[in-house]
Amino acid sequence: MNTDDREQLIPRRRSTRTEGINDVDPVSYLKQNEGAVPIGSLNVLSSQFESLDYDICENKLLMNEAVVRGYAFVTHKSLARWLIFLMIGVCTAFVGIFINISIEQLSDIKYSTIKSFLDSCSAKECMYKPYFVWVGINAASVLVGSLLVTFCEPIALGSGIPQVKCYLNGIKMPRIVRIKTLFVKTIGVISTVVGGLCAGKEGPMIHSGAVVAAGISQGKSTTFSFLDLSILTYFREDHEKRDFVSGGAAAGVASAFGAPVGGVLFSLEEGASFWNQSLTWRIFFASIISTFTLNIVLSAYHGHPGDLTFAGLLNFGEFTKLSYEIFELPFFLMMGAFGGLTGALFNHINYKITVFRMRYIRPRWLKVMEALSVAALSATVALLMMFWISDCKSLGTDPTTTPVQLYCGDGEYNTIASLWLQVPEATVRSLFHDPNGAHNMSSLAYFAVVYYILSIWTYGLSVSGGLFIPCLVTGAAWGRLVGLSLETFFPDCSWCMDPGKYALVGAAAQLGGVVRMTISLTVIMIEATGNISFGLPLMITLIMAKWVGDYFNEGIYDIHIQLSGVPLLAWEPPPLNYQVQASAIMSHPPCVLRTVESVRHIVSVLQRDTFNGFPVIDPHSKSSNTMDGIRSSGRLRGLILRSQLIVLLQNKLFNIASSDWENGRISMKIFRKAYPRYGTIDEITLTEEELSYTLDLRPFMNPSPYTIPVTASLPRVFRLFRALGLRHLIVVNDFNEVVGMVTRKDLARYRVWRHFGRTGVEELKIS
Ligand code: ATP
Ligand code: MG
Repeated sequence: MNTDDREQLIPRRRSTRTEGINDVDPVSYLKQNEGAVPIGSLNVLSSQFESLDYDICENKLLMNEAVVRGYAFVTHKSLARWLIFLMIGVCTAFVGIFINISIEQLSDIKYSTIKSFLDSCSAKECMYKPYFVWVGINAASVLVGSLLVTFCEPIALGSGIPQVKCYLNGIKMPRIVRIKTLFVKTIGVISTVVGGLCAGKEGPMIHSGAVVAAGISQGKSTTFSFLDLSILTYFREDHEKRDFVSGGAAAGVASAFGAPVGGVLFSLEEGASFWNQSLTWRIFFASIISTFTLNIVLSAYHGHPGDLTFAGLLNFGEFTKLSYEIFELPFFLMMGAFGGLTGALFNHINYKITVFRMRYIRPRWLKVMEALSVAALSATVALLMMFWISDCKSLGTDPTTTPVQLYCGDGEYNTIASLWLQVPEATVRSLFHDPNGAHNMSSLAYFAVVYYILSIWTYGLSVSGGLFIPCLVTGAAWGRLVGLSLETFFPDCSWCMDPGKYALVGAAAQLGGVVRMTISLTVIMIEATGNISFGLPLMITLIMAKWVGDYFNEGIYDIHIQLSGVPLLAWEPPPLNYQVQASAIMSHPPCVLRTVESVRHIVSVLQRDTFNGFPVIDPHSKSSNTMDGIRSSGRLRGLILRSQLIVLLQNKLFNIASSDWENGRISMKIFRKAYPRYGTIDEITLTEEELSYTLDLRPFMNPSPYTIPVTASLPRVFRLFRALGLRHLIVVNDFNEVVGMVTRKDLARYRVWRHFGRTGVEELKIS
């Protein structure tokens, strides 16, 4: 083929070269693209996100390795997998234990200090003292976490669930599973909860579990590069890592809620898009181990070794009698609907706040300031409530709280103070288990509204912290209120005498309305209450909450994912699009390489384009056939990845002799060593002589990549892509000649929307 012919194979359309997301500072990226990117839009996908590679490249190196290692290696690898899952369970639990004990100790100090100031001040004039102490402690604590998150590792923001969900969907989220992220997350969560923000430590456990899993399974760390143990190198592949990360996420849920089955289902529902039987079993194992470890250690820590009474970080406490009558079900349904409504409103307002933050709260110091103001505000509001609402109960109404008298009479305590002056997990438990007369209806109403507003504002602040607990607290407060009202309306009924039960349903409804998970939440709630007989009410409440919420908008995690422009692939293809063919979605003409390609050409392609995969064609096939008006690029021989080309160029594998294969100079090791940060083409320097060489791609490329005919429909392309977790799907014509390329972004572009009961498909912009 002469140069002119070759030039025609090269697409001219995309010649702008951009950096990979790994290299980009998000703030400067936003600044650069200020005009082009409508910040805070839900309808834009960012082309900066790259995908993970789940396909196994069955090249010559892999075959050689398989022959040399034999079946003994298969057994060895399987055993290693079990061991790793065991360690993931144990280590995740220890992260949880560390967070739990730290929060417990620090909060004890915090609340007893505030209480002593409150107790020593019975006149209104001296109220400023406890107030400043409270605000001071909150602000100091939040400052630590917020500085860490904002300046050290912004990906540790929030609960991390959306990010883990994206990772498991197959998107390379930069820095998400680094040890540094885990460190910032752990300290961040402690400081957020101790700082009195309306946020919980449970959601972040999922992210922590994911990092632990990635770290253990890879046996090396980017943050601490000296930690490369050079063991387990055969797990250094995206699909192995993904499996471990789904196990880690499950172990995180399991230890957070004492819910091992819930953990597995969470990974299935929210996370892993790819699933198989043995993986389920191993993930379940990790979850059980994680719950067990947490239980043993925390029980021992609390002085009851062997008792095993601390199944999770969040303990709902024991519901002894959790029975219901059939005619209560409509009330549960209505509560579910109410949770759906308030959840949708939560998500909508939080969305507006998030867009505001993206547009205007951009300087980092401003983010820290915002977190500090919310911390101060939380203390202010709490104190004002105690001050204004004099809900006094006589001591002994609720034996569990350590009472604050404030302005109550002797022998009485302020119930509002007892709700605020404890960690939110304890508040959830109080609302579930306090005896009937422990709270006034009006104080519950105020508390629910205030907590609701504060949690909307808190989610998305530049701090680490989850959303489960604030939702549970809000829901438990209004749920208890519903229970108390029923008692007032039906004074003689025996079934409605348990406001704690309604608090539980309210908590489920509120949480379901915001996050919209049904399968895993039902099981998590059942496991956390330890009462299977209440499964049905919880389930119908959650389903109702999801239905009603979905009528208005998406779940909170999806909203945040869409705002960040991540090309997440949905479970199902866009409906009714059978008339759209692969030819309409694919990129054409594709950028291809020849089986034996000149180094100069490879380097120039890598420099010019950002693509990560290149179809490899046969140089001798008669190229440039035109069928149905679509010109082809030559007969398909394989697919080669940018990362592979980079490694080949780095190692200068230009003239390979057969001895190189035999003496092991060339093996899978060179690729695994570079995984997962392969470097960029700009870091490689080649001499003029080296540039004039050729590179034989055949031993390294994937010789049998997945392909699809050019006439296939969009749903078909989508299903193949999604089910196999692909990154590149090559489109071919009748002669197996390459005509186009389909990637994640080509498919994620079609998004199904639902609004007020209507449905449609929209095509998103790619920035
Ligand atoms: P990813 O970013 O998902 O890791 P990638 O970088 O190879 O994979 P995309 O970033 O999704 O691919 O590609 C952006 C656009 O470029 C898509 O529309 C895709 O179809 C197109 N594209 C990808 N690879 C090629 C190629 N080899 N030739 C021509 N177009 C391509
Ligand atoms: Mg790309």
